[in-house]
Amino acid sequence: MQSKVLTRLALLLPLVLFLGAGCASDSQVRAQADEAHTALEPALITDAELAGYLQQIGERVSTAAQALDKQHVGPKSHFKEDNSWMFSTEDFHLVNSEQLNAFTTGGSHMYIYAQLMQSCKTEDELAAVVAHEFAHVYSRHVHKGMERQMWTLGGAAALGAAGYAAGGEEHGTEYAAYGMALGMVAGNFLGLGFTRDDEAEADKWGFEFYVRAGWDPARFGDFFQSLIDKGYDTTPEWQSDHPTLASRVQAAKQRAAALPPEAEDWRTLPVALASRFEELKLRAGQIAKTTPKDTALGKAQLLLRSVRSCLLPVDSPAQKDAQAQLKAAVAEAQAAQP
Ligand SMILES: [Zn+2]
Repeated sequence: MQSKVLTRLALLLPLVLFLGAGCASDSQVRAQADEAHTALEPALITDAELAGYLQQIGERVSTAAQALDKQHVGPKSHFKEDNSWMFSTEDFHLVNSEQLNAFTTGGSHMYIYAQLMQSCKTEDELAAVVAHEFAHVYSRHVHKGMERQMWTLGGAAALGAAGYAAGGEEHGTEYAAYGMALGMVAGNFLGLGFTRDDEAEADKWGFEFYVRAGWDPARFGDFFQSLIDKGYDTTPEWQSDHPTLASRVQAAKQRAAALPPEAEDWRTLPVALASRFEELKLRAGQIAKTTPKDTALGKAQLLLRSVRSCLLPVDSPAQKDAQAQLKAAVAEAQAAQP
C-alpha cells in the first residue's frame, strides 16, 4: 500500500517541479500527456487497418514539419527546447466518440474522433485536421495552457494523490480510480483548451505542413466550410475564444493563393484514394457502433466529450454537460476528503 502511494506521489513530481519553476517544460507536458493517454486508452480504435491509416497520414505531416524544423522555420516557441522527440514518438489515435472534435495533449499523442473522420468528405479534410493538431504540438501550445491552468491542475493532481492515500487498504483501488482518473485527469482535461491566437497559429503552421506533405492546398479550409454549412458559425467572435470558421476558411484561401510556384511539385496522391477513404470511414463507423460500451469505455468517452473544441467556435451542449459532470466529480471527491 505504502509503495503504491509513493508511486502515485512520484507521478506528481514533474508537476511539483513545474509549480516551483512557473513554466512548463517538454518533459512535464509529455508526462502529463502520457498520464492522460492511460485514461483514454479504452476508447482507442485499435483496428490495424484504421490505426495504421491514420498513423500514415500523421507521419506524412510530421515528416513535412521536420523538414521545416531543419530549416529553422516555425514560431519562436518551437525553438525553446530540443525538438527531436516531436518527430520520432508521435502517435495519431482514432478514438471512439460521437463528439465532432480532435485534440492533442501536447506530448506525443494526437486524437481524432471517429465522428470527425466520418464527417470528412475527403482525405484532405482529415489531413488538414491532423496537421492542425500536430501544429499545436510543434508550437508548444499545451505548455502555455499548462501555465495558465497551473493552480487548477495542481489542485486536481494533489487531490488524486490525497484521494488515494485516504482510501486505505480496503478501498485503495477504488479511491485511486476515482481520485486519479476523475481527479487528476479530470482537472487535466478541464484545463485543456487553446486561445484564439493558438488556434490561428495552428491553422497557419498546419497549412504549411499539409501542403508540403502533398495534399491539395485549395482543400485545407474545406472541413471548416462544411461546419459553416452545418450552421456552426453563428456565434459572434467576441463571444468565442476561437477564430470564426469563416475567418479560418478565408485565411486558408489566402495562404493557398500566396504559395510559391514550386508548391505545384509538392502535390502527391492521398494515402487512400476516394473509394478506399469511403470504405475506411464505414469501417470506423461500424467499429464505433458495435464496440460494447462498458464502464471503462464510458469513462474514457466522458473525458473525450469534455475536451474543449479545437474546431467549433463554441463548445456543444454535450461538451458542456461532460465538463459539468467532471467538475461535479472533482467537487464530490474534494468533499469526501477528511
Ligand atoms: Zn486547435
